[in-house]
Amino acid sequence: MDCLFCKIVAGEIPAEIVHTTDRTLAFRDISPKAPLHVLVVPRDHYANAAELAAADPETSAALVTSAAAVAAAEGYADYNLVYNTGAGAGQTIFHTHVHLLGGADLTGLVG
Ligand code: 5GP
Repeated sequence: MDCLFCKIVAGEIPAEIVHTTDRTLAFRDISPKAPLHVLVVPRDHYANAAELAAADPETSAALVTSAAAVAAAEGYADYNLVYNTGAGAGQTIFHTHVHLLGGADLTGLVG
């Protein structure tokens, strides 16, 4: 399967990795939209967050706990987690990932 994030997980494409667990990998977004912008992905391939949650709830939860660990390590007590699902919602990489955003003001959008 030709998947960019599978290749990052496999170490075939470089990324600035900031956190790893046996289930997850977290690396900085190549085009950051906030002072902190990290992507947290499962090591195994699922197309989106719902597919991962249905197939492997423990890893789905691990994305959130990994994101929290990164936010804490980077000094962000407050942060946003965003899962784009589907091209119409802006998903461009069809390997589950959560965007960890720190220092972004999304309050007018969703709050
Ligand atoms: P999506 O739009 O699918 O929710 O998010 C995909 C994210 O992957 C985008 O924010 C984009 O900047 C990021 N991205 C795309 N290609 C690469 C890459 O080669 N390396 C890294 N680290 N991030 C990437």
